[in-house]
Amino acid sequence: MDKSELEKLFALQDIDSKLTELKRKMSTLEESSGAKDVAAAVRARKLQLGEIDSQMQGLLRRRDELEDRSKSLIAKVKSMKAMELRGAISHRDIASTEAEISSLESQRSELEDQELEVLAKIEDLEQQESDLKLQVSDEEALLARIRNKNSHVASEFGAEISEMSAQRAVYSGSVDQHLLRIYDDLHARVGSMTLAKVENGNCQGCHLRLSSAEIDGVKKALSGDFTRPPTCEQCGRILYI
Ligand SMILES: [Zn+2]
Repeated sequence: MDKSELEKLFALQDIDSKLTELKRKMSTLEESSGAKDVAAAVRARKLQLGEIDSQMQGLLRRRDELEDRSKSLIAKVKSMKAMELRGAISHRDIASTEAEISSLESQRSELEDQELEVLAKIEDLEQQESDLKLQVSDEEALLARIRNKNSHVASEFGAEISEMSAQRAVYSGSVDQHLLRIYDDLHARVGSMTLAKVENGNCQGCHLRLSSAEIDGVKKALSGDFTRPPTCEQCGRILYI
């Protein structure tokens, strides 16, 4: 083979770069479209909602417990007052009964204060919960829109990729098959710029400075026929001048 075979590789390399770029765009679509961030925000808010729910369960239990205690105090006071009315309490015990009633009533009033605090917390949590649910529903709708758009974009990329792959298959048929294998192996290893130009004495692939003897060697190899193309000592890329 000779230099003209290497020149064909530039077009192949161009197709490969486009293919790589398309595949990269396709695989990072979730991230680049913002879907990944929105999905993360939805997950975080759902976790918050779970925490709110467990706090809410605790507060509801506390509210019920306070209500029960309050009810039993009310019943106790009521029965003591009924006994007083019936005259079932001896004259001697009236003062202490009154004192007990008044103590029970002040306990009840304290329980009511506590219950009001709990109710305020419940109300606050309900508000937070409803705000979060609204945000989640907005974000889920946004996510669905983004992912719907992404699936269209992905199928466009997919079509471009198959078109380019078909072009590549046709084009690579015109390249020397031995050289093509060398190129493909190298391309799998270096990823981009499999064929590197030597400019100002540097390999454009890895920027290694070539000695003038090495440059002459490359030129000499390229001026005639060769079985293996000249490659960079450092990065292994095919060199072209
Ligand atoms: Zn190099």
